[in-house]
Amino acid sequence: MVYERSSALFAAAKKVIPGGVNSPVRAFKAVGGDPIFVKEAKGAYLHDEDGNRLIDFIASWGPMILGHAHAPVVNAVVEKAKKGTSFGMPTEIETQLAQLAVSMVPNIDKIRFVNSGTEACMSAIRLARGYTGKDKIIKFAGCYHGHSDAFLIQAGSGAVTFGSPNSPGVTQGTAKDTLLAVYNDLDSVKQLVAANKGELAAIIIEPVAGNMGCIVPQKDFISGLRELCSQEGILLVFDEVMTGFRLARGGAQEALNIDADILCFGKVIGGGLPVGAFASNDKIMSHLAPEGPVYQAGTLSGNPLAMSAGLAMLTELNNDGEVFKRLAEKTEYLHKGLDAALKDKGVPYQINRFGSMMSVHFTPDPVHDFASSAQGDNPHFKTYFHGMLKQGVYLPPSAFESYFLNDALSYADLDHTIAAAQRLSF
Ligand SMILES: *Cc1c(COP(=O)(O)O)cnc(C)c1O
Repeated sequence: MVYERSSALFAAAKKVIPGGVNSPVRAFKAVGGDPIFVKEAKGAYLHDEDGNRLIDFIASWGPMILGHAHAPVVNAVVEKAKKGTSFGMPTEIETQLAQLAVSMVPNIDKIRFVNSGTEACMSAIRLARGYTGKDKIIKFAGCYHGHSDAFLIQAGSGAVTFGSPNSPGVTQGTAKDTLLAVYNDLDSVKQLVAANKGELAAIIIEPVAGNMGCIVPQKDFISGLRELCSQEGILLVFDEVMTGFRLARGGAQEALNIDADILCFGKVIGGGLPVGAFASNDKIMSHLAPEGPVYQAGTLSGNPLAMSAGLAMLTELNNDGEVFKRLAEKTEYLHKGLDAALKDKGVPYQINRFGSMMSVHFTPDPVHDFASSAQGDNPHFKTYFHGMLKQGVYLPPSAFESYFLNDALSYADLDHTIAAAQRLSF
């Protein structure tokens, strides 16, 4: 395939946008080469600026769960746009999306809309701190909760200690309130809780992780967290920005049968427009301004265009009783097919999968946390990524990202993908 126009567009972009992109993973740093510029997309296919057609396994990192340019979503947005795109005043559609979301997700009474997953997680933590009166939070190494300061933290030196900034610009003062635990390791959490007794507002987690590749929570890990949080008066925050409205109607809470105290949403809930949200029960949400003292606001929050896309998307998902099952079956089919295709290639690999999330890591050892994910062999991953791309298959351009299957993918598309993997050599 030829990527001349994409490369020219990237060169132009780099002159006026840092690194040529508005979000770093798009730049192909992990796999090398120039990123591909999209011209348009329909269903399961991306059409790039050089006229190539690619089968899409990232679905805009999750939102396009029913495929690109899905007619009910597009029509809703077009109709709404004709009536004005932002008022800074309440609109009925905000309540309609809130009602639908509250009816689909177990265990929530109220939801507040924001503009991104980052904002949702940032605000959820502020609410947790305001509600509990405590400052510290625990997060897990390798989980991503957006780019706000409190989450850009890496493990500090020493065993049970506070984190340190993993980006310049994040202050030590912020970092000291974020403690780092190990995913799938309940003891690592218990140690932190014991060492910070009475000081913890929240534990935030991706209930099925998707930002170190797909990592499945081991049996008893999430339920252990739930129990620990209830015992210690710590709020359990599920960051369902990826898993919400993807793993089940009620997201990971339903899929894992565990209730969290605060939930964060993004991606699917906006139907491809910028929407995030956080939600909880009445008691906790009543602490939020203007009802309560915890401040949070947004000029474009609940924007009618974004709400119309979200409402159309969730309506489709809510009305189709089979969609999550169908997606999980397609993902299982792809998993088995890739497994058979890669088996005799002479490279060690692991495939992790939960629902319609999946990832391939080139390592001999099971991938269950950040350290085991980071063991992956990047040269093999690059060969895999570019080998598939050459055959018209667009996979996440980093081993730390999950595949997101969309319902427009046909079994013929999956067979094409599996056949492409069979032709790879490492
Ligand atoms: C994508 C993501 C975020 C951040 O959402 P943005 O809309 O990119 O700000 C937060 N948490 C998780 C789990 C995510 O996958």
